[in-house]
Amino acid sequence: MIEVNEAKMTAKTSIFKKLEEMGHEQIVYCHDEHTGLKAIIGIHNTVLGPALGGTRMWNYASEQEALVDVLRLSRGMTFKAAISGLNLGGGKAVIIGDVKQKNEAFLRRFGKFVDGLGGRYITAEDVNMKTRDMEYIHMETNNVTGLPESMGGGGDPSPVTSFGTYMGMKAMAKTAYGSDSLEGKKVLVQGVGQVGMYLVEYLTKEGAKVMISDISEEKLKNVSSQFGATVISNEDIFDVDMDIYAPCALGATLNDDSIARMKCQIIAGAANNQLEDEEKHGYMLMDRGIFYAPDFVINAGGLINVYKEHLGSYNRDRAYRTAEKIYDTCLNIQHVSEEHNISPQEAAIKLAIKRIKAIGRVKLSK
Ligand code: NAD
Repeated sequence: MIEVNEAKMTAKTSIFKKLEEMGHEQIVYCHDEHTGLKAIIGIHNTVLGPALGGTRMWNYASEQEALVDVLRLSRGMTFKAAISGLNLGGGKAVIIGDVKQKNEAFLRRFGKFVDGLGGRYITAEDVNMKTRDMEYIHMETNNVTGLPESMGGGGDPSPVTSFGTYMGMKAMAKTAYGSDSLEGKKVLVQGVGQVGMYLVEYLTKEGAKVMISDISEEKLKNVSSQFGATVISNEDIFDVDMDIYAPCALGATLNDDSIARMKCQIIAGAANNQLEDEEKHGYMLMDRGIFYAPDFVINAGGLINVYKEHLGSYNRDRAYRTAEKIYDTCLNIQHVSEEHNISPQEAAIKLAIKRIKAIGRVKLSK
């Protein structure tokens, strides 16, 4: 697996070499003097369809850091779309700067850059970008998703992400216990934000014993009073007795320290980039006999939701029905992982690449 990080990418590193290593098709630098817009759009792969992925706005410490982020994130989107059976490629955009810079002109200028790509890249929300921002972008391009339902869009994707995560968790239970029932299972949900909160609701309805942790006292209070979940302090989460750990807050929580301490049999949560080191920690979990649902597979509900929006005539029921398939995808990945004695992360990437290659050949055939 190819790893990219800023340390390895010095000013002398050839960008073309990096694109070749990671398999990117195109990188677009966008600059506008009047609004101060500085953005990079990464198009990783468009074999299956247009590259769809959100725009992230971040005060990156350097241009290099922004480039690394867009390369890594756009590549991840290719695998997420492919493994989810969507006819989409992988792309992502990063805007370099402070959120205070955002205004109508700034966002519309970005929309114009997106439009200039003629549909090869379709944008959506990501960190620090809101539905309102998508509305401004939409004034300059149709190649945008994540619009409010009042504008014919798919609205907040979190409930669909949450449902897909719940389906994936059930599939993992089927793999580990032979039954997909979560009744009586001790599940710890780390992060009870948009996705985590809905997940707690599903789990509570099914009769799971839910524990929650968060850095927000207010959210903990709300969710515990609403669903009767037990609050666990952030320092203790890897020491408590649980069957399932559901990371729904931040990335890299699966690392040397946490994996060594963990007492669960299953990890199934929505957070992005859960494995600190994809390869090493994917295999560490395997060695410890912990079943892991790769994050880009189990949290694909959000992408599924914007994909349905992109297809037109958005219908939330259809989005849920597609997200339900995450159950079968998770089962298949565990099966391939076991059969080939490879980590689920590696199995998922292999299956994604296999689909891209197969469909690529179909597209080339006369
Ligand atoms: P959110 O911001 O609504 O919720 C995140 C929650 O995590 C917040 O309540 C926050 O207080 C908490 N948190 C932050 N740092 C924490 C820490 N150190 N320990 C414990 N809790 C902490 O975000 P969300 O939309 O619910 O997304 C959750 C995760 O799922 C993110 O990693 C996101 O990238 C990923 N994801 C979300 C979607 C979606 O549709 N929203 C789709 C795919 C992936």
